[in-house]
Amino acid sequence: MSEGIYKDVLMDHYRNPRNRGELDDADVVCRGSNPRCGDDIEVGVRFDGDCLAKVGFRGRGCAICLASASMMTEAVTGTDRERAQEMCDDLRHWMASADDAWGRLPDTLRALASARSHPARRRCVLLAWEALEDALQ
Ligand code: ZN
Repeated sequence: MSEGIYKDVLMDHYRNPRNRGELDDADVVCRGSNPRCGDDIEVGVRFDGDCLAKVGFRGRGCAICLASASMMTEAVTGTDRERAQEMCDDLRHWMASADDAWGRLPDTLRALASARSHPARRRCVLLAWEALEDALQ
């Protein structure tokens, strides 16, 4: 995929966020904020045993933060704790590394690549994932 398509995917998630809204039926809600950018979101998870039956988010943030949160909810819904944690670990590693250490991440997340080259935006990308990680604890 080209950089242009990645940007289109990001903007689509920003304009039409998936799983954004009330978190009333969540078992756990965790918050993450990034004052430097003004990002402030909450991630809620409803568990069914070990499975992440429903994952949603709410709050405000920049386009990259909200697009990443939207993509995160799609990527981890229906997986189990272990797989969700693995995605958090792999994404953090990929964002921090210069090489293309993709690990076992789903290809849908590749659109986040456009934010990877800007160190100041890394925190925006990772915010929702860190809140998810807190919810998994
Ligand atoms: Zn941001």
